[in-house]
Amino acid sequence: MTIIIAIDGPAAAGKGTLARRLAAELGFDYLDTGLIYRAVGMKLARTGLDPSAVEPAERTARALAPADLDAPDLRLDAAAQAASKVAVIPGVRAALLDFQRQFASHPPGGQGAVLDGRDIGTVVCPDADVKLFVTASLEKRAERRLKELQEKGLEAIQETVLADMRERDDRDRNRSVAPLVPAEGATELDTSDLDADQAFAVALRLVRTKVPA
Ligand code: C5P
Repeated sequence: MTIIIAIDGPAAAGKGTLARRLAAELGFDYLDTGLIYRAVGMKLARTGLDPSAVEPAERTARALAPADLDAPDLRLDAAAQAASKVAVIPGVRAALLDFQRQFASHPPGGQGAVLDGRDIGTVVCPDADVKLFVTASLEKRAERRLKELQEKGLEAIQETVLADMRERDDRDRNRSVAPLVPAEGATELDTSDLDADQAFAVALRLVRTKVPA
C-alpha cells in the first residue's frame, strides 16, 4: 500500500510549494492536478475555443496526453482562468479522475504520492492517509501572486490580480461538482502569517504523526 497525501486549498495559499517540499522530504511523487485543468483550458483557448463550451471541453479532457502538461503557457494567469472554466464541467472532471487516481495508487516511485488541487481529499482520494486544507486571506494570496508576477518581470496591477483571484475563488467554491471545501478529516493550515519554511514545518509535523519516518 502506498501512502497518499491530499492537499487542497484556494489559489496562492502556498499549497504547491508545500506539496513539492513534502514530496521531496518523504521521497514521494508529486502531482500538481491544477496543471491538468490548465492544460485542458489552454488547449481550447489556444485554438480560439471558449473553455466554457461543454462538448469541446469534454472531448479535449478525454484526449489529454501527458506531453500536454509540459506546455510553457500553463503558468500564465490566462491558463488559470481557462482552467477554472473547464473545471465546472462535470464531464471534464469525470474524464480526468482516472488519471489522478491511478497516479495516487501507483506513483512512479512506488512509495507514496502527494497530490494538490481543489478536490483531492473530497473526491479524488477520499481515503488519503493525510488531508490538509491550506488557506490564507484573499489579500495575502493576491499580494503573493502579485509579487510572483513582478519577479517574473510581468506587468501586473494589484486590483486586477485581486479581482481575478476573487472571481476564480467564487467559481471554485460555488460550482455544483467538486466545489472547493475542506474534506472530512482535513487539518486546516492558515498560512496568512507563515512563511514557506514555517508552513512546511507545521505540515511535516502533522504528516509525521501519521507517516512515521
Ligand atoms: O491549482 P491551480 O491554480 O493551478 O488550478 C487552476 C484551476 O484548476 C483552479 O482554479 C480550479 O478551477 C481547477 N482545479 C480544480 N480541481 C483541482 C485542481 C484545479 O478544479 N483538483
